[in-house]
Amino acid sequence: MGVRYVGRFAPSPTGSLHAGSLVAALASWLDARAHLGQWLLRIEDIDAPRCVAGADQQILKQLAACGLVTESEPTWQSRRTYLYEDALAKLINKGWAYPCGCSRKEIEDVYVSQGHQLARHNAAVYPGTCRNGLHGKSARAWRLNVQAVIEALHLPPTLQWHDRRKGLQQQDVATEVGDFVLKRADGVWAYQLAVVVDDADQGVTHIVRGEDLLDNTARQILLQKALDFPTPTYMHTPLVLGENGEKLSKQNGAQALDLSDPLAALNRAAGVLGLKPCETSLSNALNQWTQAWLSSQQSF
Ligand code: GLU
Repeated sequence: MGVRYVGRFAPSPTGSLHAGSLVAALASWLDARAHLGQWLLRIEDIDAPRCVAGADQQILKQLAACGLVTESEPTWQSRRTYLYEDALAKLINKGWAYPCGCSRKEIEDVYVSQGHQLARHNAAVYPGTCRNGLHGKSARAWRLNVQAVIEALHLPPTLQWHDRRKGLQQQDVATEVGDFVLKRADGVWAYQLAVVVDDADQGVTHIVRGEDLLDNTARQILLQKALDFPTPTYMHTPLVLGENGEKLSKQNGAQALDLSDPLAALNRAAGVLGLKPCETSLSNALNQWTQAWLSSQQSF
């Protein structure tokens, strides 16, 4: 095919893989294989308070049992924090990152007093209180000055991008999200910064992941531009809904994948991706789905 392809699956070890995360794992693996590309595994364990001891090893075991294997060694974000430090320093040097002393409660109070309702995932758009100085407060978190980046790089206020499955997407990051956090008040690196730095450092060209992350993409593209990184292509895969109609997640009690029958679990994941069942063997199934993925490519 001649396309340089580096893909990845980047689970947070907050629990074992479940039926929902297997869909993203399978899709990213198939996409890499169909492109004759590389597939990396990255354990996103920077948010230590949310990580569960041993979940990383469990996830690696589950992927291996499903035949979703890679030749490259997995990486752990917790071992790469010097890279995030470096990226934050670059943004500070450019004048695009600033310390913030606001608590969540203060941010919400300002937001509500401006007549807004907490809408997007119940999160307030940061009102910019510390953008021009801490006003005597002590620094807690670091934020990106979104407007400064947009102006300096002559970007349109509404960022548009194409998702291989969902089509044209857009978000006005300054008004819909605001100056988002790069390093949290508890010292933890924000997912947005870590994921962008790692994808660039590892040369990731194609991102395939669950649709729950769609809303983060505009922020990540903005950060890529601010850090002068290339923007990969994106495909967001369908979510698996639990009985309550909500996204299946570790938080709402999704069951860990049953390793006694990986083929059955894979068939369920393949079904979510619109692939036909294959009951004969793991390797037949993965071959059949790679072929099917390849021929359906154009439609993504
Ligand atoms: N670690 C994130 C998660 O498990 C995924 C990050 C990504 O794929 O960009 O939800």
